[in-house]
Amino acid sequence: MSTIAENIAKVGARIREAAQASGRDCAGIGLLAVSKTKAAAAIRQANACGVADFGENYLQEALEKQRELTDLALTWHFIGPIQSNKTKPIAEHFAWVHSVDRLKVAERLSAQRPPHLPPLNICLQVNVSFEPSKSGCSPDELPALAQAVTQLPNIRLRGLMTIPEPTDDRALQHAAFARLRELQNSLNLDLDTLSMGMSHDLEAAIAEGATWVRIGTALFGARDYSHD
Ligand SMILES: *Cc1c(COP(=O)(O)O)cnc(C)c1O
Repeated sequence: MSTIAENIAKVGARIREAAQASGRDCAGIGLLAVSKTKAAAAIRQANACGVADFGENYLQEALEKQRELTDLALTWHFIGPIQSNKTKPIAEHFAWVHSVDRLKVAERLSAQRPPHLPPLNICLQVNVSFEPSKSGCSPDELPALAQAVTQLPNIRLRGLMTIPEPTDDRALQHAAFARLRELQNSLNLDLDTLSMGMSHDLEAAIAEGATWVRIGTALFGARDYSHD
């Protein structure tokens, strides 16, 4: 087995165990493979093992890989910070955007979504870490933003996403993910998605209700940014 195949098997086992431990059906937990900085060949290998959803953070890099992989049936998720002048290619080339944190970006994605495509699936990124510098809207801003986004055509608000402050403290991991779930419930909207949990904290995220776990390092190995 290739390393990627072995890693996929290991991550799959972690997801199943975490689901079982919290009495959840693992069918409700999607594996989003985060392929930023990784070559198209790695995506091809992962897809050969049954992974179909890929998350990318950098637009140019993602578009290049998409062009190399048009023969595969992949679902692309944009999960990185969004500059409002880059929304058009995102609206055109992705099925999901997990990192919407302001109305202007949502409005542009809606206006620029090509009419022949289904609505763009959107998650609102929320900062649950009390760190003002981090991206994501604040919990205080969330209700008004969510209300406004549900009014837009061509995009469909599916739920919330968060990237908490990294910590090995299990209790803090749980607290951050529980906070996102509670914020989602308090919106009283018809939402079905919680995008939360990465390589080091997917167990806590699944226990608190994650429906997408976004996994990079545990699937593809550490990222090398030294060529940039
Ligand atoms: C890089 C990244 C991930 C994956 O993180 P790992 O720790 O490598 O699993 C998940 N979500 C977002 C938004 C990312 O930028």
